[in-house]
Amino acid sequence: MVESKASWLRESCPPWCVAAHHEEDFPDDREHQGLVREIPAVLLSRTYPESGRLVETTEATTLDVVRHCRAGSREEWVYIGDDEHRLDVSLETARRIASALAETVASGS
Ligand SMILES: [Zn+2]
Repeated sequence: MVESKASWLRESCPPWCVAAHHEEDFPDDREHQGLVREIPAVLLSRTYPESGRLVETTEATTLDVVRHCRAGSREEWVYIGDDEHRLDVSLETARRIASALAETVASGS
């Protein structure tokens, strides 16, 4: 936990927060954030150009995974994304996804 002197922060940081909160933080940026976990990733993109034939392309990227919560809120979210892709899911959804991914990878089906 990082100590903060920002007057807009009315609650204590959750134990997983590593954000440095500053008085001048813009209102949209006022949130608690956990460690950024960077995952090297390959993404598959499927498009149907005007020709109508399926085109598949792969793209190497780094996906960030970050737990976050708006200041003053108790709703915790997990961000998964990069500069072009963004998915924010509730903490409970993230747990279900993690479980499903573990099962899917382990079983091969
Ligand atoms: Zn915080």
